[in-house]
Amino acid sequence: MKLFRFGTPVSEQPGVVYQDKMLDIHAFGEDYTPGFFANDGISRLQSWLDDHAADCPEIPNSERLAPPLAHSGKIICVGLNYKDHAAESNMDLPKEPIIFFKATSAIVGPNDDLIIPKGSEKTDWEVELAVVIGKKASYVSEAEAMVYVVFYIFHYDYSERDYQLERSLQWVIGYSCDTFAPIGPYLVTKDEIEDIHNLNLWLKVNGESKQDGTTANLIFKVPHLVSYLSQFMSLHPGDIISTGTPAGVGLGFDPPQYLKAGDVVELGIEGLGSSRQEAKAYSG
Ligand code: MG
Repeated sequence: MKLFRFGTPVSEQPGVVYQDKMLDIHAFGEDYTPGFFANDGISRLQSWLDDHAADCPEIPNSERLAPPLAHSGKIICVGLNYKDHAAESNMDLPKEPIIFFKATSAIVGPNDDLIIPKGSEKTDWEVELAVVIGKKASYVSEAEAMVYVVFYIFHYDYSERDYQLERSLQWVIGYSCDTFAPIGPYLVTKDEIEDIHNLNLWLKVNGESKQDGTTANLIFKVPHLVSYLSQFMSLHPGDIISTGTPAGVGLGFDPPQYLKAGDVVELGIEGLGSSRQEAKAYSG
């Protein structure tokens, strides 16, 4: 299944892609909270659709798509998880995953505007595969790790390179600016994707290809990341793990390329959807 949410930021509603139609399912009475999918909500929704899909209105194409999770837990990001990206960043390949957090206040809908932070000159792009945790995971093995993953999504992991690399020893302030975490358009259930480690992911700026990679090149793959993280912290329903980005970020160009107001970023991952953001200047 592909689940999405739609509406204005103050009145977002759940929807589902059903027989290629985008249906408004607010009559189902539940939103896509961590409690929904931790308590078998997907099965309940599937049964409900069998009886009620014909009565659900289709949403118009003009409708804003919202973040597909009604509430997320922590966002855990992985740095330098593709060999080609580590090379363009002039950094050694990590021996263990490089982990950092990102503020959940950065989350916006998949096509919402990217706001360039006040005074920023080094706002950069990163397309990433991410996964959503569906049940509490603590000290889980790599072999059982995927049981704890409920959805695949993609995350546009924007950053500010000056804040990240020159202002702080930690990366968190460089990745946490408002609007730096568009997610969606869909929560995609695992059965929709045959091999999560064989998906193309791409990103264009103003129509020009910048990133064109494959998740086959992940250094630390999803089961390893879930298992690894669970050795240090419990993972809870609604937590997001973003797995890193392939080569082609703005920092990797010579000279580096960064986003400015008016730029249009389009990106997608095979099977998970695509989206588009327009960069706007911060305006108070
Ligand atoms: Mg990243």
